[in-house]
Amino acid sequence: MMNVLRNIGVRARLLLLIAAAMLPLIGLIAAGLVVSFRDAELEAHRNIANETRLGAETISRVFSEAREFLATLRQMPQVRDLGETNCKGLLAGLKAERQQFMTIGVVSPDGVIRCHSRGVHGSSFGDQKLIERTMASRGARFLVGDFMIGAVTKKPTVAVAMRLPPSSDPNGAGAVFASLNLSLIEQDVRALSEATGHSVAIVQPRASRVLVSWPHVAEFGTVMPDFRLLGTMRETRERGTATTADLSGRTTIFGFEPIDGAGTADLWLAVGVSPDEVYGTLHSRMRWALLTSAATLVLALAGTALLAYWMQLRPIELLSRSAQRIGAGNFSVRTGMESWQAPEFRRLGQLVDTAARTLAQAKVAEEAVAAGQRRFQLVADNTVDMISCVDADGNRTLVTGASRRILGYDPAELLGQSPLEIVVPEDQPIVRSLLDTFRAGGEVNGVRYRVRRKDGSIVWVELSGRPIDDAGGSVISLRDVDQRQRTEEALAEANRQLEMLAATDDLTRLANRRTFNRRLEEAFAKAEDGTDFSLLLLDVDRFKAFNDRYGHPAGDRCLKAVSEALAACVRRDDEIGARYGGEELALILPGAGPAEALIRAETIRRAVASLAIPHQDGDEGYLTVSIGVASLSDLRSGTTVPLDIIQKADEALYAAKAGGRNQVRARAA
Ligand code: GH3
Ligand code: MG
Ligand code: MG
Repeated sequence: MMNVLRNIGVRARLLLLIAAAMLPLIGLIAAGLVVSFRDAELEAHRNIANETRLGAETISRVFSEAREFLATLRQMPQVRDLGETNCKGLLAGLKAERQQFMTIGVVSPDGVIRCHSRGVHGSSFGDQKLIERTMASRGARFLVGDFMIGAVTKKPTVAVAMRLPPSSDPNGAGAVFASLNLSLIEQDVRALSEATGHSVAIVQPRASRVLVSWPHVAEFGTVMPDFRLLGTMRETRERGTATTADLSGRTTIFGFEPIDGAGTADLWLAVGVSPDEVYGTLHSRMRWALLTSAATLVLALAGTALLAYWMQLRPIELLSRSAQRIGAGNFSVRTGMESWQAPEFRRLGQLVDTAARTLAQAKVAEEAVAAGQRRFQLVADNTVDMISCVDADGNRTLVTGASRRILGYDPAELLGQSPLEIVVPEDQPIVRSLLDTFRAGGEVNGVRYRVRRKDGSIVWVELSGRPIDDAGGSVISLRDVDQRQRTEEALAEANRQLEMLAATDDLTRLANRRTFNRRLEEAFAKAEDGTDFSLLLLDVDRFKAFNDRYGHPAGDRCLKAVSEALAACVRRDDEIGARYGGEELALILPGAGPAEALIRAETIRRAVASLAIPHQDGDEGYLTVSIGVASLSDLRSGTTVPLDIIQKADEALYAAKAGGRNQVRARAA
């Protein structure tokens, strides 16, 4: 039941609402109709009762006239004395003047006709019971008899009688009577009926007899035990109204009233009106009311259905259709709510439209972001450098496609890993400190280290990076610099070689003069702090002669051997042996004072002598050298330049030559 109720749509609900709202109205109309019916019924009963009363009075007059006539007649001497000729003539005359009576006569107390308008004499009167009742009455009591067929006229009639005044004649003092012409009474009844348009009847309820009726549906005096109105009259015993079947079986509203003038004769007048006449207008009114209510209901329902569609269903349809389309991803949709719709629906429509617009904007933004991301991915994947992001824990959160080329790994393989994992053990401290730098919010530019590629080979990479957020994340650019690194290393090596060559004397492998000059200046500069240094100048003795005897190539070999002997005497890295020029060599001894310099010079002199290179034209028969020694501490302060110490050493060398060669001299003196 609840399910059925729940599934009732908006339109049906509105229709139910309208039907429910109209029900009291229809009830009111129905109640009004019922009241109208009751009113009409009461009115009809009241009218028929009045009409019946008037009719009864009219008919009553027939009997009153008969009463007055009989009252007058009984006092007439001709009647009282029954002078036969006189009486008969009188009665015939009176009768001729009065059409309402068929016969008039006088009877003796035993009911024998004594005088008669038609001359009848000696026979019994038809309604003996009436005569008996009359004779039993006192004074001028008016009595009405039963219905009968007249003995003389042979026509249906009702007799009326009145006792004669008492007389001295024992055979006299009977009663006067008259038989009423029912046809004439019927004319009165007919006149009544035609005046009102209603059926009229004079009835005797006790005898269940219909005496006279119009329309003439029954003969005068017909006994009709089934006529229920008679039963009602018997029961009520007084005037009233009743709705019951009429003589021909049609339902009729009857008014009934005793006819006063008829005295105790139990004569009643009944006037019947057809319900069609009473309710006729009411019925048509009711039909109209029903028709208009039904039409109103139908119109209201149809109007409600129409309004329900335009005011409720349509906006709901518009809203749900838009919602469905939005749900399907179509954000360009608009509800199209008409401006005359209820403000609640308009507001809902605006809400849906705004939602669609917002979603459309979000979609555009989303597409822009997606396009941007695609572009970024394209750029990132096609960038030579591998771009990656690392979080505060030092794990990669993003890796671009260049990883395949540089490291041999797919980006996915590197995600979530630390850059440290592929670094060769020797370089791990470098990378660790880089990561620390990032964590501390610092930038790094062009730091090189070696990594092991997926195929096991080791390559040089260069890393630059900077922090990107407050959470400790950073972006890193990794470049393959393996080729460059190796080229640079080779270049540096070549440069070193070149430098060495430029600084070295070709023959003796000692530093050349240019290098000697530079190193001497350096030693000078270094000695600014007060430390001492010494210079040895060496010259081969009688070398011109050696060349002359043994030839120049032999002289070269000899010079080479002397140079090697000098080089062998070099003790420290900062001591420089050099070819000063020709067959003159030099040795710079940083930090050495005059005494040490002499010892070192002497060692060299002996080393050369011990080579024992034959030299026939020499003073000793073998090759010797002379060495001049000068120390910075020997120079006069304030005038010291490199040339001064060379000058001093040269002077000492000259002195050694002059002193006989194959010796060491510290001073020219
Ligand atoms: P002293 O004892 O006075 O020094 O006599 P010396 O003959 O050695 O005289 P000096 O020092 O003036 O001689 C220089 C000679 O050294 C001249 C040249 O023949 C020789 N000499 C210079 N350079 C070279 C060289 O590169 N190779 C050869 N074989 N001889 C050279
Ligand atoms: Mg020389
Ligand atoms: Mg010489």
